[in-house]
This record gives sequence, C-alpha cells and structure tokens, in this order.
Amino acid sequence: MFIQANLNKAGFVCDHASTYEKAQKLIAANDYFVGLSSMVLDGVEYGMGINLLLDHRIPAIAVTASLDDHVLDTLSKKNIVDYVLKKSDQTDYIARIVNRVYRNRGLKVLIVDDSSAVRDWISQILIRQGLTVLRAADGHEACKVFYQNNDIKLVLTDYAMPEMDGLRLTAQLRSIKSMDELGIIVLSSDTKSRTAPLFLKQGANDYIQKKASVEEILCRVNSNLEILELLEDSRNRANKDFLTGVWNRRYFFEYGVPLYEQSQLGGPEFSVGMLDIDHFKKINDNYGHDAGDEVLKKFSELLVGYVGEGGVVCRFGGEEFAILLDEVEADELVGFLEDFRALTEGFSVKFKDQIINFTVSIGATANMDSSLTAMVSRADEKLYEVKRSGRNKVLCDW
Ligand code: GH3
Ligand code: MG
Ligand code: MG
Repeated sequence: MFIQANLNKAGFVCDHASTYEKAQKLIAANDYFVGLSSMVLDGVEYGMGINLLLDHRIPAIAVTASLDDHVLDTLSKKNIVDYVLKKSDQTDYIARIVNRVYRNRGLKVLIVDDSSAVRDWISQILIRQGLTVLRAADGHEACKVFYQNNDIKLVLTDYAMPEMDGLRLTAQLRSIKSMDELGIIVLSSDTKSRTAPLFLKQGANDYIQKKASVEEILCRVNSNLEILELLEDSRNRANKDFLTGVWNRRYFFEYGVPLYEQSQLGGPEFSVGMLDIDHFKKINDNYGHDAGDEVLKKFSELLVGYVGEGGVVCRFGGEEFAILLDEVEADELVGFLEDFRALTEGFSVKFKDQIINFTVSIGATANMDSSLTAMVSRADEKLYEVKRSGRNKVLCDW
C-alpha cells in the first residue's frame, strides 16, 4: 500500500492489516500512537475500521475514496483526527498529519474561554489530536495556570471575558514569552474589522472567527504548532553542539551576558566552571576517534544529568566544557564540583566491548569580576593550574 511505503520513508514503523479481524489482532498485541483506516472494509459495515480504532482510544485518521456530502457528514460525526483522500498525491499530507499527532503527544495547550460549552467543544477537538489540554475561564485564571505550567506551547483565547479579557491576556503572556516560544491564537465571535489587527499587533500569532469550521480551526492550530517547531529546530541548530546535543559556546554568552548584566543591577550572582577531559588525545589514539566521540557524548550526558536545573552546560570546543551555575551557592561550589570530579573518575564508557576510563580537570570561579569573559578567564587560569599540577582535581578562584 502506498500509504505504508510513504510512512516508512518518513521514519515511522507501520503494521498493515488487510482485514478487520487482522486489525483487531494487531491492536490487541501492540501499542499504536495513531491509526489510519479505510472507510470501506470487506465484510464489515461502513466506517467500522475507524470505530475499532476509536474504541481502543487510538487517534484515528480516516482514508476515503470519495468525499460527497454523505461521507463528509459521516466523518464530521466521528471523533477523528482528520480524513485523507485515497490518492497518491495525498501522501505528503498523510505523513505530515501522522507526524503532527506524533509530536502532539505531551504538548500542552491552554484554552481560555468564559463559556464552559466552548471550552469543552475546543478541548474535545484538540484532545483528539493527541494534545494535552488545560483550561481557564478568564485571563486571570489563565495566568495562574500558565505560571504553574511553564511548558505550555499554545494558548487559544477568547476576547470578551470577565476579570481579564483576551487582549490583556495576550499582552501579559507576550511580556513573558516571545512569539517563537509561545503561540497565541485568538478565537472570537467579534467580527469587527479592527479587532484582528488589534490582537496581531499585541503579539497574537493568529486570529480565528468562532464561526470557522472545525477543519479550519484544526488547520490553523496545526500550522501554528509547525511554525513554532521549525523556529525551535533552527534555534537549536544555531545554539546546540551537533555531536553531544549540549549548548554551544555562542549560547553560553547569549544566555550568560544578560544574566551577568542583571547581577550588576542587584540580581543573583552565579559561578562559572571550566572542565577539560584529561589526556583525551590518548583516548583517540588508543581506542580510535569514534570511541573519543562516544566518550564526549557520555561525558556530556553525565554532566547534564549532574547539573540538572542548577545551570547550563556548554561544549566550548574539543573536550572542553563550560558550565554556568546559577543555583549553586558560592560556598558549596567546590564541594559540588569535587563530587562531579569523583563521579567522573568512577564512571566508564563502553565502546565496542572496550571499557574506557578517564578523569576530568576543573577550574572555577564565583568571583563576578568585570564581565562574563573575565569570569571565564579566571576559571580557565585555575583549570590550567590543575593541568600543570597533575590533573584530576578541582581548583577554585574566589
Ligand atoms: P590534557 O589533559 O592536557 O587536556 O590533554 P588532552 O589530550 O586532553 O588535550 P589536547 O588539547 O592535547 O587534545 C585534545 C584532543 O581532542 C585533540 C583533538 O584531536 C581531540 N578532539 C577534539 N575534538 C574532538 C571530537 O569532536 N571528537 C574526537 N574524537 N576528538 C576530538
Ligand atoms: Mg584535555
Ligand atoms: Mg584541551
């Protein structure tokens, strides 16, 4: 089947059932995040394949050969993700919609409307897409939910609401998160021509009339989510290290310089650590370059896991890493880094049946000095001192 071949090409593993009974067996034996079913299946009533998926709470996409009014009417009554035409020129769209459902898992959307009927209606549409839905009855409540859920990706808000309306909510949310971090879609029954630009100028990503079809609402939600992901991907490409997935040097300064400036205005202070794997060249020489790469990846994971929410981890280049710690008190800094040094010493990386052990040298400073660059130099000098005095140690500059 061309749909299966195309989804395989897009990187998805697919099972294909040629009959209703085979579909039942596959569903009983596997977990599927999405299912596609033809509306017509041999030996069972029209639409039964879709019902089977829905009964098992699998987001369902209907595949139909024709789209007359009767078919559209039947489809609109089913809780499906979407429908697609059984035509070879639809394969890209099918891959896109499957990918959307895949990426929607765990993605949080906040629906803000003073009418519980509207909240329920929109929630039902979005839950079907595999999205996680949160609700609020006005702007104030929305802000509260928003502060408790830092990972909300999209807000769908009404305009007229008691307490705090959609326009004030848009302004408030925009002051916290930029257009490429959070999508805001306004869903309003206000048809005045000046309303949409009012919202768009306040930073809303889109404006939809409440009388729009479910299909239009879904298309716009999906395209806004896609744009947000594209922006996130390109930001990651610019700011993340390709090999290890940790932040790069550029991001260290992009994140750290504003933090430094805030500290000069009375904001919290932080510390900087420079870490360098000892005799890394020997790992490459003894085990090969690929083994060296594996050590860099596993060391990065270890460091990211250790630092956690306490700061950011960046690869400065080669086997040199920088960390900016904004949650570790200055008097705990040496202990914190010493524990990591010991953790690394006891850690080993397995590569093609070989066990690779290594150590790390660390220099750090909690002295805010005159700039972030100056802090990095201070930490670097300490790291150099460690290297000269035998490696596998932590030295701190105050
Ligand atoms: P020291 O203890 O003094 O830090 O010695 P070292 O061998 O760790 O340091 P040196 O700077 O002499 O060598 C670092 C080596 O790291 C040289 C370079 O070929 C290698 N390297 C740099 N980037 C990568 C990478 O992405 N992958 C691998 N496998 N090796 C890399
Ligand atoms: Mg080194
Ligand atoms: Mg080096």
